This record gives sequence, structure tokens and C-alpha cells, in this order.
Amino acid sequence: MRSLYRQYTLATLFIIGISILAGFLIVSIIYNIQIKEKNDEKNVGVAIEITSVLEKMHGGGFNNYLESITKLGYQAYVINENEEEYSYGEPFQDTELPEEIRLEVLNGNIYHGMRDYQGKFFIFNHYANSVRNTVGIPFEHEGIVYGLFIRPNNQLLFSDMHLLLLGFLLALAVIILTSMLLLAKQLVKPIKQLNDATKHVMVENYRVELDITRNDELGQLARNFSNMVKQLELNDEARKAFISNVSHDFQSPLLNIQGYADLLKSTDLSKEERENYIQVIDQEAKRLSNLTKQLLLLTSLDQSARPVRKSDFRLDEQLKKVIYKYRWRIEEQNMDLSYEMEPVMYYGDIDLLENVWDNVLTNAIKYNVAEGEISIKVIDGSDYVRISFQDSGIGMKEEEIDQIFERFYRIDSSRTKEGSGLGLAIVKEIVELHKGKIEVTSNINEGTLFVILLPKQIAF
Ligand code: ADP
Repeated sequence: MRSLYRQYTLATLFIIGISILAGFLIVSIIYNIQIKEKNDEKNVGVAIEITSVLEKMHGGGFNNYLESITKLGYQAYVINENEEEYSYGEPFQDTELPEEIRLEVLNGNIYHGMRDYQGKFFIFNHYANSVRNTVGIPFEHEGIVYGLFIRPNNQLLFSDMHLLLLGFLLALAVIILTSMLLLAKQLVKPIKQLNDATKHVMVENYRVELDITRNDELGQLARNFSNMVKQLELNDEARKAFISNVSHDFQSPLLNIQGYADLLKSTDLSKEERENYIQVIDQEAKRLSNLTKQLLLLTSLDQSARPVRKSDFRLDEQLKKVIYKYRWRIEEQNMDLSYEMEPVMYYGDIDLLENVWDNVLTNAIKYNVAEGEISIKVIDGSDYVRISFQDSGIGMKEEEIDQIFERFYRIDSSRTKEGSGLGLAIVKEIVELHKGKIEVTSNINEGTLFVILLPKQIAF
């Protein structure tokens, strides 16, 4: 795998390389188009000045004058018609001068070598230490025709100031490069940490500590990651608790069925005993079937596997049908059920809402007292339909109310054998699916009031 840091370093170096090359090309082009010719012209001017002095000079002093000129920062080379050659100042590295150039100058023409020289690569032509990279001027001295070839000495071109500037550029390059690499390291560090953390989470180790306290996008990513891990941990715990609850709730009715089935095998059982045992098996099988149905419904609601099927229906009539379904049970326990229902046309999922009334009503029966009361009211409000279930049952404590909507939560499983603790979890999911609210008020031994508010305009 190519690390991000390596890729970044290589890209930086590549960009620096390309920039240097591009800069060099641009400078070379400007040099070729503009500077080269001007430079040539300037030096021709200087050379003409020198030769005019030399032409006026009589007797000695010729050599001394040229020597002193070179001390001002020039290199000079002199030829004459007698094929004599002299060098002044810093000697040229390359003194080869083609015959046609010599003749051109000795015949009275100016040689523009600094403009036309092409021996080296681009801008390096400027520094070529060759007689061909000079300007050549003809002059006469004491009746002899000479040619003076001069150019500025490279040492003059590289003054201390130039070296200082070069040093400055180098230092700048080193500082920029190291800071970019340090910055890259700083950027890559949190990504590496996050990468390591994901490996821990993959093997269900949620105790990951991230040492990232930045305020930028990476810091935000780290904070979101930590929150996600916390949520994953909670989900994982919930999943494990769910599996253990499900296993436990399946295990006890199965054990009962198994035990009573064993008892039924015995031949010396009275008819009454046999019927009792069969009834227990029947009850436990129903409990299992009910539990499975509730689990399936919850899972389908969780995964949105069951689409919400909305339609217009009479909510009050649906509630009456549910009450009718349980009338035998209410009568059996000598309970008093009364209701006051305004006619309500509601737009929602008829099957899911039936589950809600079913669960809340059976709870009002299950957790009631013998000869207790149940009162149901439906009010058609302007924005909400308000459905309330008041029972005179055993009630619950304030702190328990918050938990009753959790899956498998049962306040005291010994209070009633029936129930799985899933009913109200289902109720909550369905009401929330309809964007509704549930309010519970309860007092121990006095009773409980469940109020369900369903909004009338819902967008599914
Ligand atoms: P269950 O299947 O046990 O009835 P629910 O999810 O329907 O599960 O309810 C959770 C718990 O809330 C019940 O076990 C019960 O203790 C409590 N509860 C629900 N409704 C009432 C009520 N009307 N009166 C008293 N307690 C109730």
C-alpha cells in the first residue's frame, strides 16, 4: 500500500521539480527574446568607447589601458591583421575563434557574439566563457587593424549580492519543503489514528480513544467517529440483550410444553388432570405463537420491511371492534368498561393501529384489579385525535413509566404470567410512525392513564 504521506511527499517534490523547470524555461525565453539583444548592444557601446580611446592613443599604454579595463570587470581578447593575439584579464576558457569571424571584424564589421552565441543550453549561453560569446569591434592603432573582443567577466556577474540571493532562495526552498512535509505529517497522523480505530471496532472492541482535538474537518470526522462507535456499542449491547431475552422467553414456554407432554405420557392420569395439562400446553403454545408474531412485527417495523398502508377509516368503529373482541375477558373478571367516542375519520395504517388498541386495552385488563374499571375516550381535535385509556388497576411508579416502552421490559414479571414486554415497544413504534405521541400518567394502586395523540395531517 502506498501511504498517504509518501504520496504527498512525492507529489510535493514533483510539483517543486516541475515548477523549477517551468520557471527556468520562462526565464530562458525572456532572456532570449529581450535581454540577450540589449546586453549585446550595451557591450558594443562599451567596446566602442574603449576602441575610440585606443585609436587616439599614441606610443605605449595600449596594454596597460586594456589591463585596467579588465579590472573593471571585463575579459578582453585582441587580434590584429598580423595574426597576433593577446588576452587581457581573466583568460577565456575557449579561445577558438573561427576565421570568418576574425575576417569579419578585421574588415571593419561589428561581431554580435553575445546576441548570436548558441553553444550552451538556454540561459547558460549567458555565462559561456568563450571568445565567441563576446562582442567584437574593429579599430586601428598606429596603422595596424585590430579587433577587440570583450565581455563582462563571470566573476562580476556572480557578485556577493547574487550569492546572497541564491542562498536566500535555497533557504526559502528548504524551509517551504520541510514545513510542507511537517504539515503533511500532521494531517496524516489523525487519519492513521482513525484507521487503527476502525480495525479495533471491526473486532467489536469499542474502547477506542482518539487523541484528536482539532477543530477542522478532521476533528469533526474524529468526533463523529467517536459518537458512531458509542452508538455501535449501545446497539451491540442491545442486540446481545435482545438475543438473551428472546432465548429466555422462548425457553420457559418450551420447557413447560416439554414437561407437561412428559406428564401426559403417564397412563394413570385422571381425565381432569389430563385436561389441565393439555390446557397448559395449549396456553404455552399460544404464548409462543404470540411472542413470535410480536417479534416479527417489531423486526418488520425496525427494518421498514413492512410498508405503511394508509387509508381512510372510522377510528372509533375500529376501537369498538377491538373492545368487542375482549368483551368475554372483561365480563369474566367482572370489570366495568365504558366509552365515549366521537366519530372520527382517520387516515392511517388500519392494521398497525389495531395492534396499538389491542396492546393498550389488554394491558388495561391485565394490570387491572378484579371488578376494576376501564374508560376509553376518543376526541376529534382540530389537529390531533386524542384517544385515552383510563384503568383503575395496579398502576406503576413514576420512575418505571420511562422504561415501559423498552423492549422486553416488564415491571415485575410475577405480577402477571402473561406478556412479553414487547407490546408497548410495538405501540411506541407504530405511534411514532404516525408522527404521534403517547403520554402516561400512573399512580400505584390507583390506576393508569394512557393518552395517544395522533396528528390528523401526516406525511408518510
Ligand atoms: P407486557 O407484555 O408485559 O404487558 P408491555 O410492553 O405491554 O409488556 O408493557 C410493559 C410493562 O408495563 C408491563 O409489564 C407492565 O408492568 C407495565 N404496564 C403496561 N401497561 C400497564 C397498565 N395499564 N397498568 C400498569 N402497568 C402497566
